[in-house]
Amino acid sequence: MKTLIRLILIASISTIIILSHNGVTASSSSSSASSASSSLSFLNDLKSKYAHQPTFIQAVQEMATSLQPLFQHPTKGQHYKRAFLLLTEPERIIAFRVPWIDDDGVLQINRGWRVEFSSVLGPYKGGLRFHPTVDDGVLKFLGFEQIFKNALTDLPLGGGKGGSDFDPKGRSLSEIKRFCQSFMVELYRYLHPSTDVPAGDIGVGGREIGFLYGQYKRLTNKHGEGVLTGKSVNIGGSFIRPEATGYGLVYIAKLAIQDKRGEELTDAKCAVSGSGNVAQYAAQKLLEFGAKVMSISDSNGVLFFDNGMTQKDWDAIVQAKQVDRVRLSQIEDQVSGKYIAGASPWTLDEKYDYAFPCATQNEVDEDAVKQMVRNGLKGLFEGANLPTQILAQEVLKEHPAVLYIPGKAANAGGVGVSGFEMTQNAQKMSWKPEYVDEKLQELMEGIYSRLVAAAGDDGSLESGANQAGFVKVVNAMEDLGWL
Ligand code: NAP
Repeated sequence: MKTLIRLILIASISTIIILSHNGVTASSSSSSASSASSSLSFLNDLKSKYAHQPTFIQAVQEMATSLQPLFQHPTKGQHYKRAFLLLTEPERIIAFRVPWIDDDGVLQINRGWRVEFSSVLGPYKGGLRFHPTVDDGVLKFLGFEQIFKNALTDLPLGGGKGGSDFDPKGRSLSEIKRFCQSFMVELYRYLHPSTDVPAGDIGVGGREIGFLYGQYKRLTNKHGEGVLTGKSVNIGGSFIRPEATGYGLVYIAKLAIQDKRGEELTDAKCAVSGSGNVAQYAAQKLLEFGAKVMSISDSNGVLFFDNGMTQKDWDAIVQAKQVDRVRLSQIEDQVSGKYIAGASPWTLDEKYDYAFPCATQNEVDEDAVKQMVRNGLKGLFEGANLPTQILAQEVLKEHPAVLYIPGKAANAGGVGVSGFEMTQNAQKMSWKPEYVDEKLQELMEGIYSRLVAAAGDDGSLESGANQAGFVKVVNAMEDLGWL
């Protein structure tokens, strides 16, 4: 009966017309709704074709698992599968070399990409990542996630992602500037406010966006166009954009905790991982809401705060990361927490009420979730993209009392305010910080209500997030005549 109610609900939010099944590589029929693995066998070709891109396959698999109620729909299942397969193939991938001269005068060569994944809902929108682990597979995973995240914001934004295998760690300011300028020498030809509008991500903050934008202006002699977001306010950026992802994450967590548990964040023990853009502002907003921030980390270790981080600790961390650009290990004597080398918040056997992974993909494994659940975890909210491994997600699903909001919904505040930055650039106006923050809160409320509606009475917030984003994109493809 519950399934029937759920199917009716799904049908009511979809206006999809059923097409013929010609060309669909799907092999399972709607009547074979029995086994999870057989219903996802239509992904087998994709999985073998892109076996060398495991994180991309992981993202696709995770999404498909959530969408099974749609794939098993008695009349529309095959149609949803066909739409899903179309959405797994980027519209185009631009790949280019990035030559630059280091401080010793030596020519260095990196690779750069822009994955223009989906323009269904608007211009390709998604960040640039500079990290040695970046390749086309990682960017495909991020771009794929971005399509559905952007759909959840209800803003007219398509999905994309880009970046380079350049490692900014240990590079001088001049080297980073030269690298950004060379990267833009190639990328500029693909950007336009109505075509492709990148932002930042790991290794790309306001400073790098400024260098990229400066080079764009020199190359094109076009000024004031919103071709990049995450700019500083001095050069046309939006107030609250640096804070938006972390703030939005805590706003949606607060909404879920109030709605599902009737509780507040006050005094809740919250673990935060990472110490970059998302982590810093998630920690700040948690402190503002009276939570105890137990941790902050980088790829070398964790700062753990037995009694919760203080405002003074937060100031020291931000100074270390945004100004001095040093490792957390170097500021142990300036903060009240203890530094544990080689650990992360998820490897410590500590009690957390809520977990906020804000570093990188796959940072939370199955053992970590089991340990946190044993220690009384009440919720996990993803600031990073895909930080929770698939087996760890399974553990969360076995414990439905633990609230779980995936990155697609939980970290969408950043792209939301990027959308607001595009609007301000188009209007040639600058909105006040209080107004942007208010709009960010409204955006997160809208996302939360969308995923609750799609989840229905018996669905999880996780499946609600994935289904709401997917259905919105499929409906738009239908309207465009692309299916
Ligand atoms: P960031 O400012 O560059 O910070 C990244 C943080 O994660 C750093 O503390 C970094 O430590 C840590 N980290 C990176 N790789 C790691 C690894 N392999 N193991 C452990 N720690 C690692 O980046 P960010 O913008 O905060 O992004 C963090 C996450 O949020 C990413 O998943 C990103 O895709 C996602 N996200 C960002 C935004 C945004 O607006 N910026 C929006 C939505 C989602 P080290 O310094 O040691 O590398």
